[in-house]
Amino acid sequence: MDERHTVDLLIIGAGPAGLYGAYYAGFRGLSVALMDSLPQAGGQVAAMYPEKLIYDVAGFPAIKGQDLIDNCVAQAAPFDPRYLLGHRAEELVHAGESITVTTHKGVAVTCRAVVITGGMGTFTPRPLPDADEFEGRGLRYFVPKLDELAGLDVLIVGGGDSAFDWAQNLEPIANSVTLIHRRDTFRAHEHTVSQVLASSVDVRPFTEVARIHGAEHVKSVEVFHNKTDARETLDVQAVVAALGFTADLGPLTRWGLAQHKRHIVVDTTMATNLPRVFAAGDIAEYAGKVRLISVGFGEAATAVNNAATVIDPNAKLFPGHSSAL
Ligand SMILES: Cc1cc2nc3c(=O)[nH]c(=O)nc-3n(C[C@H](O)[C@H](O)[C@H](O)COP(=O)(O)OP(=O)(O)OC[C@H]3O[C@@H](n4cnc5c(N)ncnc54)[C@H](O)[C@@H]3O)c2cc1C
Repeated sequence: MDERHTVDLLIIGAGPAGLYGAYYAGFRGLSVALMDSLPQAGGQVAAMYPEKLIYDVAGFPAIKGQDLIDNCVAQAAPFDPRYLLGHRAEELVHAGESITVTTHKGVAVTCRAVVITGGMGTFTPRPLPDADEFEGRGLRYFVPKLDELAGLDVLIVGGGDSAFDWAQNLEPIANSVTLIHRRDTFRAHEHTVSQVLASSVDVRPFTEVARIHGAEHVKSVEVFHNKTDARETLDVQAVVAALGFTADLGPLTRWGLAQHKRHIVVDTTMATNLPRVFAAGDIAEYAGKVRLISVGFGEAATAVNNAATVIDPNAKLFPGHSSAL
């Protein structure tokens, strides 16, 4: 892929901090691209707990994770940020007053400043073994929109919070929900486990996937009991694999950024040790750091406003009040 983009500001990581940074860049009149290795925006929130209520974001007594992300996307939308989803930032090269970041797919973004909002790094769902060919054809690792599975027979694989949350939330709208787990102990919140066990969800411990069947799309899944080897074929049209994630700072560690315990060290302007490179949100580190969405929002605003003064040395640091527009 030989694709090139030129923008004022590149934000690496489309979690809540990055999305809010995109809004702020637009508000400052900067063109902005937002890159994320995941196929969707929303970082940890959209990937791990889109259906959970969040109680500690200022101005929202309670808001569902995915609704918060949808609102962040809507807030940035008037400024038309360029989304590069499914792209992992791989290489960063300075050339005078510009920086070029290249993705693992070979797409190059040239910009005048970078804000890294990479959270824990790229997090990749643990794959369901031997099931690659069905990904996107009935097998999925995320359920950002529950409605997509309405009326289907769904098999959920996993025993953690995500598996039980999907089970609980899909039960009222799916035709049937079966949850299998290779053990008989679950890592999910006890209260959710009890609710799922008391619901119509068919929970099967000591059970694993043997094989997915289907041509164009998942049609059924053969499962086996790992104590007795008893086998059964379940007619399902959707498989949700919730086997956890692996997080990896990966490429970011090779750019010469000062780090402390897998985080990027920043000063009070959110600047890193590299010229024109800032960091905000969970990935940023300084004394007294608190890793929360609300803190990441504030840091993103600080990072982008300071980046604006690096991009244009005549620009003011204070952006003015949005309410004055
Ligand atoms: C189960 C759970 C519940 C939580 N509940 C709350 C809560 O109630 N309140 C609260 O305030 N916080 C909560 N948190 C924490 C909150 O989700 C994080 O603080 C927040 O998501 C951090 O936002 P971020 O934008 O900094 O990073 P993230 O949300 O981690 O997003 C970072 C993004 O960067 C991408 N990325 C990383 N490296 C690269 C690369 N090289 N190239 C391209 N993309 C890259 C990743 O794919 C990811 O999408 C919770 C977390 C979990 C796991």
